[in-house]
Amino acid sequence: MKIKNEIKLSFLSRSQNEAFARSALGAFASQLDPTVEELNDIKAAVSEAVTNCIVHAYSDTIGKIDIVARLLENNSLYIRIKDKGCGIEDIKKAMLPLFTTCAEGERAGLGFAVMESFMDKLRVNSKLNSGTTIIMIKTLKSRDEH
Ligand code: ATP
Ligand code: MG
Repeated sequence: MKIKNEIKLSFLSRSQNEAFARSALGAFASQLDPTVEELNDIKAAVSEAVTNCIVHAYSDTIGKIDIVARLLENNSLYIRIKDKGCGIEDIKKAMLPLFTTCAEGERAGLGFAVMESFMDKLRVNSKLNSGTTIIMIKTLKSRDEH
C-alpha cells in the first residue's frame, strides 16, 4: 500500500518517554483528522506497547525503542514498535487477556487486549533474548462517516 507520510522515532526505555511516544504518535495521527475517540484509542495502544518495552523487554536495563509510523493511502495508520529486549517465550499465551508474567500483582495483563480492541490489526513477532516487534494498524473512518 502506498505510503503518504512516515516518521521514525528512537528513544531510550526511560519511563518518561512513554508520555513522549504517546503524544508524538497522537500528533502524527492528527493529520488523518481522527475523532477524539479514535485519537484516544491510538494513544492508549501506543502507551501499552511502549510500556511493555519499558517494563518487560528491558526490565533491568535501559535499551532502545524504535517506532515507525506511516499514513497509508486508505486513511490507515500503521505503527511498528520494536525493542531488542528479552523477547516473549509464548506469544499466544502472552496475548491472552489477564495473562501477565508480573507476579506481584501490579499488572493486569490487559495491555495486548487493549491494543487488540483499540486497533484494527495487531501482529506480534518475538524471539527470546533478541526482542519483540509489534505492528498495529488502524483504519480511520472517513470524515463523511463521522
Ligand atoms: P498490563 O499491560 O495490564 O499492565 P502486562 O504488561 O503484564 O499487564 P500485557 O501488556 O498484555 O500485560 O502483556 C502480557 C505479557 O507479555 C507480559 O506480562 C510480558 O510477559 C509479555 N510482554 C509483553 N510485551 C513484551 C515485550 N515487549 N517484551 C517482552 N515481554 C513482553
Ligand atoms: Mg502491558
